[in-house]
Amino acid sequence: MLNFLKSNLQKRKGAVYVRFLVKDNCLVPQIERDHSLPISQIQTIPQPALNPDFSYNPNLQKLLTGKQLLLDDLPFPIEEIQNHYENGYITYRKGIEYKRNRPICSRCGNKAENWFARFPCSRCGEICYYCRKCLMMGRISACTPLIGWNGTAPEHQLPETILGWKGQLSPGQQTASKRVVEAVQNMTELLVWAVCGAGKTEVLFAGIESALASKKRVCVATPRTDVVLELTPRLKAAFPEINVASLYGGSEERHLYAPLTIATTHQLLRFYHAFDTIILDEVDAFPYTIEDSLQFAAVQARKPDSAMIYLTATPNEKWQRECRIGKRDFTTIPARFHRYPLPVPHFKWCGNWQKQLKKDKLPVNILTWVKDRLDHKKQALLFFPHIHLMEKALPILRRLSPKIEAVHAEDPNRKNKVQKMRNKEIPLLLTTTILERGVTFPNIDVAVVGAEDDIFTESALVQIAGRAGRSRDFPDGAVTFFHYGKTEDMLKARKQINTMNQEGVRKGLIDV
Ligand SMILES: [Zn+2]
Ligand SMILES: [Zn+2]
Repeated sequence: MLNFLKSNLQKRKGAVYVRFLVKDNCLVPQIERDHSLPISQIQTIPQPALNPDFSYNPNLQKLLTGKQLLLDDLPFPIEEIQNHYENGYITYRKGIEYKRNRPICSRCGNKAENWFARFPCSRCGEICYYCRKCLMMGRISACTPLIGWNGTAPEHQLPETILGWKGQLSPGQQTASKRVVEAVQNMTELLVWAVCGAGKTEVLFAGIESALASKKRVCVATPRTDVVLELTPRLKAAFPEINVASLYGGSEERHLYAPLTIATTHQLLRFYHAFDTIILDEVDAFPYTIEDSLQFAAVQARKPDSAMIYLTATPNEKWQRECRIGKRDFTTIPARFHRYPLPVPHFKWCGNWQKQLKKDKLPVNILTWVKDRLDHKKQALLFFPHIHLMEKALPILRRLSPKIEAVHAEDPNRKNKVQKMRNKEIPLLLTTTILERGVTFPNIDVAVVGAEDDIFTESALVQIAGRAGRSRDFPDGAVTFFHYGKTEDMLKARKQINTMNQEGVRKGLIDV
């Protein structure tokens, strides 16, 4: 059969087989259309039994363990892949499944009809469906086999010392750390609800160590590339002798097999039943919250028996309710490591500020707030709900100081401006919600202009307030919400901060 394949492939140079027939309880790739079908039309995909005498290719094993890849992702000849399949080491799954004649993408779970497109497919020679939702990871169509590994996982030697970190956990961190270790060992789910600045990364170390020590595979996933880039060196330093794969769009370690993986949630789309422990950081952050495919990917990347740890400073309303009624297992770190309370936001009414902006003006109390910061040389972040409003406000504020800058998501100088802010070269930085999380400046005040806007959800406002007072040397900072009418979200955000502070005091984690 392999010879048949080779000769056919020579005939159609560059072509990849994409039609199959089932023969002797085995899927056989075909080039000819006669009697063959695209994989999605084959009822049940047979899985040959594992042949223990077969000598498999360890590079294929490393590449495929815990993955679901396309033929295009595999730099191996088709004959070799098929040979591994026939000996039970490789699995083929349908890229698209049909349920009641409706397509479902096996990789990203998409089942919305408008996210599928049809095209005349040169690979199967039919009009073929493909998924538009996960297109950026390579096209999945109705004739695409998703390829996985069915053999054992690669062996790796454990170093004598797994965890090299020698720091001390705060009492609040310790409690959470113990719970994480338990969840890892018992393979359960746990939400770690840690206030901004609690030091949540260190809370994971013992759990990761315990997983690695029992040869478990661990993934720390997060919606944002920035966070992957920030976590990678920290985890590499904490686990100096463990191989760490850092995966994000454009990273070079895409095919590295490692016991510890740090990845964007997008990258999880390439994994299938891979991890014994997944730690999902910033579960409430965009785009994870609104992209069903990313949530699907996180579930699919877990082994059926595995631990799932969710980390956030701001769980959404549904999760908060589930915590309250005991439906969701959780632990809190209600206080920052420096034992000072979280700054509580002040609400200040500023009238119809957008109308003023149209006349090239800003409300007096906002101008006074800015001027105060400039006079006292206290750095500050000023949040705006939309770019065009921010850009309208910039020249007005620059009359107070020409060094004031503004930053937003698509700003090509974003990194540069953040760095200048760190270097204290910028006295005041205007920003959209892009800086609501992730960035830490040691000594700043924070204000929101137009806190009534829909974009400022409870969690966005808690995160924004969480930018202030992060460092031990400057544990407080003013947080002001300028508004044209208080919203539910503003009230809930303030309440959440107060509740955490009270809990911190009650548990002896805040000095009063
Ligand atoms: Zn096709
Ligand atoms: Zn898809």
